[in-house]
Amino acid sequence: MNFRVGSKTDIGRARERNEDSFLVKEPLFAVADGMGGHRGGDVASAMALQALDRLDLPDQGPLAALVEQIKEANQAVLERGAAEGSLRGMGTTLTAMLAEDGKAHLAHVGDSRAYLLRDGHLQRLTEDHTLVQRMVREGRIRPDEAARHPQRNVLTRALGVDDDLPVDEFTLDLHPGDRIVLCTDGLTNMVEEDRIRHVLESEPDPQSAAERLVEEANAAGGDDNITVIVVEARGDGDARTAYSSGGAVATAPGPGGAEAVRDDTAGAHRAPSPSPARPGRRRRIAVRAVIVLVVVAAGLAGLRVYLNHQWYVGDSNGRVAIFHGIPAAPLGYHLSHVAVPTVIPANRAEQLQPYRDLRDGITASSFPDARSIVSQIRRDVLAQTRRRAPGTG
Ligand code: MN
Repeated sequence: MNFRVGSKTDIGRARERNEDSFLVKEPLFAVADGMGGHRGGDVASAMALQALDRLDLPDQGPLAALVEQIKEANQAVLERGAAEGSLRGMGTTLTAMLAEDGKAHLAHVGDSRAYLLRDGHLQRLTEDHTLVQRMVREGRIRPDEAARHPQRNVLTRALGVDDDLPVDEFTLDLHPGDRIVLCTDGLTNMVEEDRIRHVLESEPDPQSAAERLVEEANAAGGDDNITVIVVEARGDGDARTAYSSGGAVATAPGPGGAEAVRDDTAGAHRAPSPSPARPGRRRRIAVRAVIVLVVVAAGLAGLRVYLNHQWYVGDSNGRVAIFHGIPAAPLGYHLSHVAVPTVIPANRAEQLQPYRDLRDGITASSFPDARSIVSQIRRDVLAQTRRRAPGTG
């Protein structure tokens, strides 16, 4: 798998400095949005990405290494902030993606965001670490109120604030044609998600897409610095990436797709007729085989598109986990895989009324929804623990 990448950062229309930074060093991509007086903001975001850039991949696995490097970046920003008076209180967000072997490993702190554009749908992958997001989760305000809330920029997590930094981490399978967007809140506070989706869909070139998104944020007022990275995954040797994986084969075969259908057909029509048959009969069998293959291919492609948009929370080896797909295994064929494991014991969650069906899977409407279900389970299990052992909280 290879990538086409576009990136753009802009000061916006209202700020005196650009405190955003970004890193594009395939296969590592990241945005950081710095904050703090004087030059604190730009120092924090630039420092964090310099530290991230020192990532080399040892044996512990790419996602673990990425998270470890973010914790080191946190230490670096923290120490510099403590050592230099003019930089005191500086901090930064960081949203990073490391591509590896058909997968995207993501790690995230703060209110910058990662999105996935797949098959024309834009999916938010990260949860904002902000006070208002927490209020939404707790049901104290509505999501549409959060977008306009005066304190929507108050972060609950950032690099450079505390020794102990929880980092959100997860891994996604990448498909050819997928676009991952990393961006700072200077984009998402100014441009609606549906508009972002539209721009991404209408700009085939990732660089033009990144530039147009920045233009749109500026046209809407440009209240903040704006940074956008668009990473497009492409199949090996794929010249033109089709967005619709199923339709491309059945109705408008590209060079690769047509080849694949022909090969399969040849194999299929040899198999059922080992003895010589009349040419007409052989031809009819071949035609029938093609029809069957196209129907099966379209069905599988449709199923894959469907499964790509399904998420649920379930039990994976006794632990609560977020699954991608649906909780079913017809003919022993699993239609899901673990997307995000946790350490929460599943039996503890099942003891609580709302989660007693955990084993069968609790359906989520989206990936962020699945994440907030897990957060809720974590809180409820913790609260139950405290009730059981009073005085230890
Ligand atoms: Mn910002």
